[in-house]
Amino acid sequence: MLACVRGQRVLLGPLASWVLRDPGAYAGLFDAVHTHTVTSADLGTGSRVAAPYERLAADRGSCDGLIGQLRWRPVAEVELYRGCTRRRFCSFCNEPVKSNHVKFRDPADVLDEITVLYEAGVRNVRLGQQTCFFSYLNRDAGAIEHLLAGIREGCPDLEVLHIDNADPLAVASRTGAAIARLVARYCTEGNCAPMGIESFDPAVIEANALTCTPQVQMRAIANVNEAGAQAGPSGLPVLLPGLNLIYGLPGKLTAVTMRTWPGWCGSSMRDTCVTASTSGRPAPTRALLLRRWVSSSHRRRLRISRPGRPTSPTCSTIR
Ligand code: SF4
Repeated sequence: MLACVRGQRVLLGPLASWVLRDPGAYAGLFDAVHTHTVTSADLGTGSRVAAPYERLAADRGSCDGLIGQLRWRPVAEVELYRGCTRRRFCSFCNEPVKSNHVKFRDPADVLDEITVLYEAGVRNVRLGQQTCFFSYLNRDAGAIEHLLAGIREGCPDLEVLHIDNADPLAVASRTGAAIARLVARYCTEGNCAPMGIESFDPAVIEANALTCTPQVQMRAIANVNEAGAQAGPSGLPVLLPGLNLIYGLPGKLTAVTMRTWPGWCGSSMRDTCVTASTSGRPAPTRALLLRRWVSSSHRRRLRISRPGRPTSPTCSTIR
């Protein structure tokens, strides 16, 4: 994403990592590159680390008028924390790049952000981005209930309140089962607890430090199903377990997965959502394409910004 701010070219989003990896190839194209969230303190200088939650809270103002500019009904994804609560990280994981320490948000700060969005017209909220909803505040079920109840009380007309990401190690625990019941009670139907199981192959689990055994995975699935398999008001299951798989991790994943798949599709997996991704890399021609695209889009932007022509208030995004 390229934003032009008072004639400055600011690059945001995943492409920023490509630019930083080979700065010489992109020299002179951007005035600031942001790998993380932009704040008022670093707009023109760029960002390389996640902004402190206190900084983001200080920047937060009213969102009035924002939602009306969108041509769709947005789902607001609200982060509860950064980092992973496991002692040993999975070998492929990029979460340590984002934050190698766990940093929880204050529940009052989360509630304030959701309330601001709700007052601006947002009716769909997902408590996502963090590595495991169940591990928020070190699996503090009381604080999680307080937060969920506060959201429902302060935002009574929410149409969707969902969670995202669940560590099967946390979900399989006794506290995990209790938190699953809270999610089923306070969130809206059609919810999913997507668990990064990644592989069923013991060799792949070992080679990639995945930690979670098939027995633990099955217990996590059972906890979610026991809490949320019943249908909600519109007929959707209240809460389903989701299984995230990654193809291409070190080890003979594909053959073993296909061989063991029928066993995983037995009765305990009937109501389970499975998603899969690969660990492939983007094509190397991206740098050249980006350079051409930036040049042409910035030229367009400068034309629009000439004195005497109508301009957008402060900042415009070119997709
Ligand atoms: S459990 Fe998830 S967040 Fe933690 S290291 Fe593994 S993949 Fe990363």
